[in-house]
Amino acid sequence: MYSYKDVLAEILIDEETLQKRVRELGEQISRDFEGQDLIFICILRGGVVFLIDLMRYVSVPNQIEFMAVSSYGSGNRESSGDVRITYDLNTRIEGRNVVIVEDIVDSGNTLNAVIQLLSTRGPKSLCICTLLDKKDRRKVEIPIRYRGFTIPDKFVYGYGLDLDEYFRNLPFIGVVDLEKLEKIKEKPS
Ligand code: 5GP
Ligand code: MG
Ligand code: MG
Repeated sequence: MYSYKDVLAEILIDEETLQKRVRELGEQISRDFEGQDLIFICILRGGVVFLIDLMRYVSVPNQIEFMAVSSYGSGNRESSGDVRITYDLNTRIEGRNVVIVEDIVDSGNTLNAVIQLLSTRGPKSLCICTLLDKKDRRKVEIPIRYRGFTIPDKFVYGYGLDLDEYFRNLPFIGVVDLEKLEKIKEKPS
């Protein structure tokens, strides 16, 4: 197994910048929902690290729930329009303020499907909070209420985002050097 350093092209967002922005988002959510309560729905697994930091900056009463989604049809660095819910909520969201917490919006396919499903369940409000937004890649327009950073079209990892399911624990967002990755994978281990 290789190290994250072997495939790191650059650090795109460092730990301090991330934490500062996550705190700002938490404070903004606290102001917007003052006097109300809310439920965070975290999309597994990429949204987990962001959720855990974000919720600690939120001062209004909140609950957390999880959903897992998979999209079939193409390679593991692209999502398709064929999105399936592989793990659903364990609670009702009728009449609730719902904030969906996601690591990154790319084509928009995943969250488009999640929003369509959740909106049939009668929430009082429903919005998206994403750490990263790869705007240039959008195929489906979806409304993003809270956005950490807009980033260029590069494959990134760390802070919840995986590279082949590894490295979600990195405290920063790094850009993967895809050429180095290919070379490492060619080598017999
Ligand atoms: P979408 O359905 O918007 O195309 O894709 C969303 C999902 O694709 C994200 O939740 C994430 O799991 C994955 N994804 C998109 N871009 C990246 C990236 O640069 N790095 C990683 N690790 N995952 C990504
Ligand atoms: Mg995700
Ligand atoms: Mg992934």
